[in-house]
Amino acid sequence: MIKEEKIVAGFVNTENTAHRPDGIYGEVIAQIKKEGICPFCPGNLMKHHTNPILAEGSCWILTKNAFPYENVKHHILIIHKNHIERIEEVSPEAWIELKSLIETFSKENNIPGGTIVMRFGNTAYTGATVSHLHANFVSPNGEDENREPIIARIG
Ligand SMILES: [Zn+2]
Repeated sequence: MIKEEKIVAGFVNTENTAHRPDGIYGEVIAQIKKEGICPFCPGNLMKHHTNPILAEGSCWILTKNAFPYENVKHHILIIHKNHIERIEEVSPEAWIELKSLIETFSKENNIPGGTIVMRFGNTAYTGATVSHLHANFVSPNGEDENREPIIARIG
């Protein structure tokens, strides 16, 4: 039986910033929550995000995360251009473009291996901070044999 979702997180979820060691990130998300805007919607993205757009397709944009996870060489946000939150809203064309953007970025940056984390739906269940559908593309510094793991909140 499916329970009715009673927890509504809104555009951002300040509960999910608690595990981040950088307190500034939590402050930025709290400010966005006060403003009541979606930080990843096209008209709002540059209000709190100052990194340039690295690549743009018809469905997604790529930009460097301003608040990268610890121990990464690359932490790229791949943000769906239109505001969607659920996986079933991603069109077949968007999936194809996502693959292409990841491949191109990997090739251009000589990334031998990476991880894609895409959390979808109610952020009270995912650990994501922003509801607007996006993927986190992370890659460690592979040349450091003693590197620490990259830690991300999931669930
Ligand atoms: Zn949005």
